[in-house]
Amino acid sequence: MARLERGIGCADTRDKTRQQVVSLIRSAGQIARIDIAAETGVSPATITAITQEMIQAGLVEEVAPGTGRPASGRGRPRVSLKLRGDAHLLAGIKVSFRTLSVVLVDFEGTSVAEHVAPLSAPRVSPEALAVEIRALLAAATAEIGQTVDDISGLGVGLAGTIDAIAGFVHWSPSLTASNVALRDLLEAALPMPVFLDNDANLVAKAEQLFGEARGVRDFIVVTIEQGVGMGIVIDGEVYRGTRGCGAEFGHTKVHLDGALCRCGQRGCLEAYVADYALLREADVSMPGEAGSSAEDRLNRLFLAARAGEPTAHSITHRAARMFAMGLANLVNIFDPRLLILSGERMSHDFLYSDEVLAAIRDEVVQVDAPPPEVKIHKWGDQMWAKGAAAYAMEGVTDLAVRRLAIDA
Ligand SMILES: [Zn+2]
Repeated sequence: MARLERGIGCADTRDKTRQQVVSLIRSAGQIARIDIAAETGVSPATITAITQEMIQAGLVEEVAPGTGRPASGRGRPRVSLKLRGDAHLLAGIKVSFRTLSVVLVDFEGTSVAEHVAPLSAPRVSPEALAVEIRALLAAATAEIGQTVDDISGLGVGLAGTIDAIAGFVHWSPSLTASNVALRDLLEAALPMPVFLDNDANLVAKAEQLFGEARGVRDFIVVTIEQGVGMGIVIDGEVYRGTRGCGAEFGHTKVHLDGALCRCGQRGCLEAYVADYALLREADVSMPGEAGSSAEDRLNRLFLAARAGEPTAHSITHRAARMFAMGLANLVNIFDPRLLILSGERMSHDFLYSDEVLAAIRDEVVQVDAPPPEVKIHKWGDQMWAKGAAAYAMEGVTDLAVRRLAIDA
């Protein structure tokens, strides 16, 4: 495993081409040099030079087409290139309400180990989080006979308002402190570079690299978990806004002077569709046994709604209509090619019912062209963690490419 230093150099045009070449090889699986030149519009001579550097640096290897194995050199029709899986080991961590999930992937993106550990508390101090992350990485690497020192980069995703570029957490429901330079804190506690982002952006990254959005340049992912999140990808890049905080879909307003949101404002989408909002209504109109957990009360609500109990049905129906309105607004603003609804809460079907999909179609601007495709992708914390690993993979590729530029 190669070791990488943090924060070397800055990207020039040739760096950008190198990064483009790596992402093209990654998305293609394997691809010939001549096809890389055609796809990037860069001259075959430059592609040959760049890929030669990458082969020498151990990032890329040659394969005979269709075999997926290193080329033998005898009677080969046309040599393709693929990434070298063992070039780097990357880790992705998803910080959830009560758990930490980690996925270790090789440089090709293949999962090599997965591990889940309970968080000591739903909200922890940044210092405690660093300690728990280190222990989780130690446990996960031990499963494959490696150590924390073998990891080239770590991606961490958590909910909240996060400036990914600065590695700064303005606020997160997982942390007891606000305004934390969490990336610096984690890098001081761990031996590898750390890449931090809002978890919804990391789901967008995972969809782009491994999921439903492969090959799609413009798409939106809406995540439904404790709250509602969103990742926007425009022309292949995650859109992060001016403050680096990205999209706060859950706090777009759907009702003037509406229900109170946990952000302190009124009429936010989350105040109608998030778990706490559903429970707030259910607790008033269908009180249950004292002491039952929020999860139990929610499940009871969903079961009653599915069974056609009128009060439960009206609660979920209203949430579904609000959600559809929010989604239609997104389509009207962005006109994406693809809208992906993603997350654990998707196991509760009212938010992605045919009724919601029909309402979106009714509420988007009607033109003589098909509306964007809406895909539903249910996945658990491990896939969110894989998105974090994908983010680390990009970060480590950047660092490796910059090092090539320095060595060239
Ligand atoms: Zn709000």
